[in-house]
Amino acid sequence: MLFGLVKDAPSNFDLVVNNVPVKIQFRQSSRCRRIIIKDVYPKGFEVIYPQFCSMEKAKSFFIKQYEWICHHSRQKPRISNFENGSMINLLGKELMIEFTGHPRGVVTIEESRLIIPGDEQNSKTKIKNFLKNLLLTSLKTFVDDFTKQLSKEYKEIKITDFSSKWGSCDSKSNLSFNLKLVFAPLPVMIYVLAHEVAHFCEMNHSQKFWDVVERLQPGFEIHRKWLKNNGAHLKKYIL
Ligand SMILES: [Zn+2]
Repeated sequence: MLFGLVKDAPSNFDLVVNNVPVKIQFRQSSRCRRIIIKDVYPKGFEVIYPQFCSMEKAKSFFIKQYEWICHHSRQKPRISNFENGSMINLLGKELMIEFTGHPRGVVTIEESRLIIPGDEQNSKTKIKNFLKNLLLTSLKTFVDDFTKQLSKEYKEIKITDFSSKWGSCDSKSNLSFNLKLVFAPLPVMIYVLAHEVAHFCEMNHSQKFWDVVERLQPGFEIHRKWLKNNGAHLKKYIL
């Protein structure tokens, strides 16, 4: 697992675990005898730790338990979305969310900031449209290149709200991709593109098919594995 701290408020953290931010609030308590992790869905987690324990220790305790929590907690952590000041990872680029407070204007990326007009309540459609465009423009270059390499042509690319699939292709050469791929690291997105475009040659998952994927993205296996292990987290973003 990969960990990193991205935000340091008095005792609130966005802890990045496998590229997915997790909200945690740390609280020290004199009555507490051991470190307790509370699932405060949908706000994330609360970590209560005794006075004789340091916050660093409580943090590493949480990290150690995190994988177990994700697999066993009935209330799995959901990613609470777009909040002012929180961090978001778009195609591998870490950005701080900044709401302007003024409804006019368009969503833009400026250096390491994602600037969104309006506030958290009234900008949902703007954010979604921005993410759709961002994903579409990023993936088009790769799809163009992959289809060219295989001497194939596609008709249309759609960005959709698939609930489980990451991508699909049909017999009429249309491609569709899950909007939540925008939260994946770039090579993982590329793997999904290579996978779907490879179906233009092989409409199955035979060895021949995987050979085409390997041709388009050498070493794809590591990205496929990442998606298998972390894909469920990406789907927790609420858009
Ligand atoms: Zn497939």
